[in-house]
Amino acid sequence: MEKIAVFPGSFDPFTIGHESIVRRGLQLFDRIIVAIGTNTEKSEYFPLEQRLEWIRKVFADEPRIEVAAYSSLTVDFCRRVGARFLLRGLRTAADFEYERAIAQVNRAMEKEIEVVFLLTLPEHTFINSTLVREVIRYGGDASKFLPDEIDLEDYFRKHGRK
Ligand code: ADP
Repeated sequence: MEKIAVFPGSFDPFTIGHESIVRRGLQLFDRIIVAIGTNTEKSEYFPLEQRLEWIRKVFADEPRIEVAAYSSLTVDFCRRVGARFLLRGLRTAADFEYERAIAQVNRAMEKEIEVVFLLTLPEHTFINSTLVREVIRYGGDASKFLPDEIDLEDYFRKHGRK
């Protein structure tokens, strides 16, 4: 049976930390669906369509990775696409506590889905999307935290800066 994992998140924006988890996950799974959840309380910084386009560009060379958006419960999305695994990255002890709560709630709803955690590479531990957005807001250079395929300057030329 094909091993399909969903890598859920808001990816606002998608960072080199996210990319690394997905590429490492390819050693464990046949297919990975990077899925942008749109049902959270978080308000978006980059539009959904743009985030989808960027992630598709990052993995254009990798046929085993798909990119999608969903607005249901994550476990319902997993069921819909036939995924039995959820992939998540762990950076810190705080991540662990947060992830444990989500994983246990998910487990209470759907026993067939296993959550697989990969420890972040040390050099990516401090990278998070909130921090990247702050760097952007104050005019800093965020490109070192983003995959090469995500060209922020090009984006801001077309859409203006926030
Ligand atoms: P969420 O809104 O679910 O927190 P994020 O987009 O922030 O979504 O993150 C999605 C997943 O990527 C989470 O499992 C998170 O732990 C992981 N992640 C976030 N930043 C990094 C990083 N720098 N290195 C590795 N994993 C990360």
